[in-house]
Amino acid sequence: TVVDVAAGGNAYPVRIAAGLLDRAGELLAPYARGRIAVVSEDDVWRLWGARLAAALGSEGIEALPIVVPAGEASKNWATLGGVLDRLLALGIERSDHIVAFGGGMVGDLAGLAAALLKRGCGLIQIPTTLLAQVDSSVGGKTAVNVAAGKNLVGAFHQPDLVLIDPALLDTLPGRQLAAGYAEVVKYGLIDDADFFRWCEYEGAALLSGDPAARLHAIETSVRAKARIVGADERETTGRRALLNFGHSFAHALEAEAGYSGALLHGEAVAAGMALAMRLSVAEGLCPDEDAMRVAGHLRVMGLPTGIPGQAADRLIAHMRQDKKNKDGRITLILSRGIGQAFVTDQVPEERLRAFLRTECA
Ligand code: NAD
Ligand code: ZN
Repeated sequence: TVVDVAAGGNAYPVRIAAGLLDRAGELLAPYARGRIAVVSEDDVWRLWGARLAAALGSEGIEALPIVVPAGEASKNWATLGGVLDRLLALGIERSDHIVAFGGGMVGDLAGLAAALLKRGCGLIQIPTTLLAQVDSSVGGKTAVNVAAGKNLVGAFHQPDLVLIDPALLDTLPGRQLAAGYAEVVKYGLIDDADFFRWCEYEGAALLSGDPAARLHAIETSVRAKARIVGADERETTGRRALLNFGHSFAHALEAEAGYSGALLHGEAVAAGMALAMRLSVAEGLCPDEDAMRVAGHLRVMGLPTGIPGQAADRLIAHMRQDKKNKDGRITLILSRGIGQAFVTDQVPEERLRAFLRTECA
């Protein structure tokens, strides 16, 4: 399958098929000049680096690996600087392409490096986590984390090509797979009730590695993301903000957990989506039955759906920092029902606080 993503007058292909990694030589040949820099992290490179290098080698392309430590802690200024120095030392030019080979951490780090190198060189994403395959590798957002918070410094820099090989997920730990699955469910909740129903029936097959379910989920998710990003590349009309369904709460929960790895992003998103549904019910916008279905499905998939024991006031303090907020009002993505998400700033902070106090109890 090829999904075309239209962004800023340009379009780029997202290719999705099992076994694509082994065809990387042929697929990347037009973007390489006999050699290509590959930014990756040590765990992914240990598991899959030789396969990628062999695929490139079969077309006479030398892979030049730049490997950083695995984990969110590498998404910082110092590591970014190191990657840029290596790229410059390798003689990478503006007309060259670099490959991001890893999960969302590598995608964001290498993406920002590509945005900055010589004021912007080419970028190819080969995502290796479910989260990166269905979400972060498409859409052009790149960032690093700084002392003031996560993803606060970054750039929009669209890739020229995205290669998604679901077989890479064979080695992904189950907890990471489930966390990425939360973002899959998100697309159903935003604007595709039929897809949410599919998730209810086939989600378990996906998590147990069924290739057909995996492929369908990735294709549907990438199409949804492409549609929304194509309508609002730089998050100016509010359409792209829908992709943040569940994320205002999620970011607050991640900040509370100290980005420690104790709570994965997708786990926080699952809880955040369940909260967004229940707040929508409390606001009289959404049928209770829909909120119950969403929480029920996420729970069955092993994902968290509540926040008992959290401190409501601290969560609100984090939510006030959200990049989506305008004029001091908290912007939320709420729901009129499964598949009907919308952006609103009409929930006063006091009602949000009362809702969160009940949820935290
Ligand atoms: P990650 O890249 O840290 O990967 C998660 C874990 O999986 C790591 O331990 C990694 O080593 C391991 N891993 C990766 N691929 C593997 C494989 N094939 N087999 C075995 N292990 C593998 O995290 P993530 O969940 O992919 O991405 C999270 C990051 O993505 C965050 O930094 C987040 O801010 C960012 N993000 C960006 C966007 C965007 O639009 N740019 C969207 C969502 C999230
Ligand atoms: Zn997310």
